Formats: sequence, structure tokens, C-alpha cells
Amino acid sequence: MINLKSKKMITLKNIIIKAMRSVSYRKTATRLGGLLNFVRFVDTKSKCFNEKFKFAVDNKISTANWSYKNNTHHINISENCIEIANTQTVRSTKESIAFYKAVIRHEIGHALYTDRSSIVGQWCSDYNIPFGLFNLFEDVRIEYKIVKDYPQFKKFMWFKYMDIEDESETASNAILIMKSKEAGTRTDGGNSKTNPLTSFVPSLKNLKNHYHYFLNGKDRGSMTTKQILKRYYMRSCHAICSLEVVEITKDFVSTFGNEMPSQYEYENIINGEVDPNFSPQKNSSKNYTKADDDGGYSNCDYSDLPLAKSSFDNADVNYSKTIANRLKPIVKNYGRNRNKLSSSGSRLHIKNAIAKMENSFRSIKSKKGKPTITMLVDYSGSMMDTIMRNGGREFICAFKRLSDSNDIKLNLIFSMDRFGYLLNDHSVDDIMAIIPNGNHEALDNNLKRFFPLVKKSDLVLLFTDGYLTGNIVNESQYRNQGIELVACCIPSKNDVANVRKYCNGYFTKTFIDQSPTSLATRVVKYAQDKQKI
Ligand SMILES: [Zn+2]
Repeated sequence: MINLKSKKMITLKNIIIKAMRSVSYRKTATRLGGLLNFVRFVDTKSKCFNEKFKFAVDNKISTANWSYKNNTHHINISENCIEIANTQTVRSTKESIAFYKAVIRHEIGHALYTDRSSIVGQWCSDYNIPFGLFNLFEDVRIEYKIVKDYPQFKKFMWFKYMDIEDESETASNAILIMKSKEAGTRTDGGNSKTNPLTSFVPSLKNLKNHYHYFLNGKDRGSMTTKQILKRYYMRSCHAICSLEVVEITKDFVSTFGNEMPSQYEYENIINGEVDPNFSPQKNSSKNYTKADDDGGYSNCDYSDLPLAKSSFDNADVNYSKTIANRLKPIVKNYGRNRNKLSSSGSRLHIKNAIAKMENSFRSIKSKKGKPTITMLVDYSGSMMDTIMRNGGREFICAFKRLSDSNDIKLNLIFSMDRFGYLLNDHSVDDIMAIIPNGNHEALDNNLKRFFPLVKKSDLVLLFTDGYLTGNIVNESQYRNQGIELVACCIPSKNDVANVRKYCNGYFTKTFIDQSPTSLATRVVKYAQDKQKI
């Protein structure tokens, strides 16, 4: 960022003040006046007609915000806003003022259209929706509406003031890019026949081709990712109130998980109320161990994970019990050898016993007792369907149950972002409540980080769809140390081919199954067969 002050130009504060004044200009015979003047004193149908507004420059906040209290709209703008502007804008006073005017216009949009009660914040908390993510969809709506209702003030033209990416790694960022390109206004809310909304969806990196689309809480089946992004975006443009936007955000979370563009992590305020659940990671006072250090993982807490206790019910919990019960007889046999020696019973031929000493020993009593399994669970956004809908959670919890009943020894590691979470001491309910988020799975970092546990395991399971976002696991490196990595997944029907392709690209042994019970059985049998050799 270029420091404007050092260039002896007008200060940023004065630039903001100029922008604030210009939205308040009065209408004259020849001049349209500012937008704020228009909605307060000209447009009698405006919700802000004759209402009070108070502006302030506030550098304690990261961008800008609006709140409504004591019958007054408060709009606070921070100098820090300029950090999202491009160099061209920063260099020019005129462009900087125009950029801040657009920011202020956006906040006036909140004053005009955003719910003024505390109910939105309440709903978001109840649904476990980060305020920042709601704000993203609400921003889509208010910017579309304000341009539609007041076309004489023109479009926002964010592309002039900011650099807009043309590629996105996450679904929420794709929505942000569509917003920045003003896809709604340019396509008549997606209704244009000549200019389709899908052409505004950026190219998608590391997202699956298909996800499940949700409408008012109902799963409408698998659709292409572009189609789904288009729908969520379009619904936001046409939503009639903030509460409808909460519902859209909730559906979006069901599809893609709890993730949001990093700049929205700071947008964690709705009408003055701060998100009680999600604080921006960058402001976190927690000092995490770097992923490439090994050991020292105790400073990652369960409570750091995205949790939704309401996302599962008794039937889900019971299903994990059913799977565990199927696995029990198989793991009980672990290490026992059903060869001739063991089945013939009591008499032991000394010659055979010498020749096959190891086998004869195991045939009488399991040498190893119970198997040690390390399971690394990929909890990135692409695992949403696998974990939440295809029985992934139940699959994981079945192993957890076997560990609780002392039939296996399990190291359960959730691999998400740069953190790995060892969840051995948590209950089935705790594990069921964790929802995937949209970040990186970081499988290799976490394999390295938990290497002492990985090395001592009889079976290392990677529960992943193979959509690895960097941090590629170098299988041969592990194989050389005697560690076999087994990938497994429960993909949706549409994804089977891709998941198989990706997993086979990274791992020698992959189990793909659409039934959690069948997958668990195959994996455990595989471990047992390996043991017999
Ligand atoms: Zn906003």
C-alpha cells in the first residue's frame, strides 16, 4: 500500500470526509445531488425518508459498517478500507474519493434494506451461521437492490477500484467475485437471455464438479457447482428481506460448509452486534504450533473447530453403532490365523511349529492383541457430502466406538487447514458435531506432525476424496519407512469416478464405497489380511 500521507497529498481522513459530503449534496435544478440526500429528502417511498444519519471515521474497524440505534443510522468508515483498493485508486485522490463513495453507498444500502432488529443476529447464532458469511449474501442483495431502485446513481464499478480475481478456490469467494463484478445488475438478476449469470462464475479451482443444492433446508439433489453458485447468488439478489438471506446462507452452508472469503472474516458484525461464535482467525490471540513442527499439538482445541450440535440426530448416532457392531467380530479375529495349525486344534507338530513358528504362535493367541489404527480425516469443504450426508460421520464414529469398547486402538486426527486435531478423548457426540469447513485438508502436514503415532500404527487410513489442495502426500516416502497409507471415501454417486481417479493418483490402495458399513468392513478385513501375511 502506498502511504498517501507521505506524498503530502490530501489525507485519507479528508478523502473520506469529502466522500461523505458528496453523498449528502443537495439536489438542484441541474444536479442530481447525492444518494443520501435523495433517499432522505427526495424519495418519499424510501425507508430512510426523513431519518437521521451520523457518519464517523473509525480506524478501529477494518472496513466500514452500519448500525441503527436510537432512531439514528450510524455509518462508520475506516481508513483501512483503502487496503482492498488497487494501486491505481490509491494513487489518485479523485479515484480514492470515488472508491469511498462506493463504500458509503454500500452502507446506505444497509440502512435502506437491512433488517434493523436483532433477529438476524439471533437466527444466525441459532443456525450456527457465521455473521461474516451472512454479510456476504446480504451485500449481494443490497447492492443489487440499490442499483435497481436508484439506477440514476449508476453501478458500483468495483472493478475500477479493486483487483478482482478470475479464479476461486472456494465457493464463498466465487460469490464474492460475482458480487464484485455486479453479476446481478448486469444480468437483470440472472434473468437476461443474452447475458447468462453463469458467465460471471469465476473458474473454480479445487472444487468438485457437483454438490448437493439446498432450497429452504431441503436437499434438491446433485447439481453442477456453477449451477449451484448461480442459484445461491440469484436467490440473494431477489431475497425480499434479511431473514430470507439467512435462509439462503443456511442452504449454502449445507452445500459448501462454513467458509467465507478472508475479508469477510472481519465482517463479523450485524447491525452493531458482534458474532458470538466466529471470531476472525487473524485476530486470534492463540498461538498455534506450525504444521511442520512435529509434536506440540496440544494447543489446538476442539472448540476451535466449526461445530453444529444440531446437525445430527439419534438416528445418525445409532447408525454408527450398527456399523461398529458389524466390525466387532472381524476385529476380534485380528491377528489370529486360520491356517491348518490353528484349526487342527490342540496338537502341534514340532516340525511345523519350527518351520512356521510365528504362525503357530499367533494361532493360539493373538500376538498383537488389538490393532492400532490411525485415521486422518480430511475435513475440507469438498468432504461436505461425504461427511454429512453419505455416512462419513457414522463411518468415523464406528471406529471411535470400537476404540471406546477397547476392540481397537484408534488415533483419530482431523486434518483441516494448517491444524491437526487429535480427538482421541472426545465422545461420539462431539465428533458428530464437527462440520467440514472450506479450507485446506493439509494431509501431508498432519501426517508429518503426528508421525510418531503414524509410525506405530498397523493401519493408516486417510479418509479423503483425494481433492488435495496442495500439500500432496508423497506416498513412497512413507512406504520406504514401512508405512502403508490406505485411502478411503464414501463419495456421492456423481463423484465416484473422480474420487477414484484422484485417490488412485496419490495412493496405491484405495477403497471407494457408497455404503459406510461396507467400506468399514472392507477396510478392517484388509487390515486383518495384511496381518496374516
Ligand atoms: Zn455490507
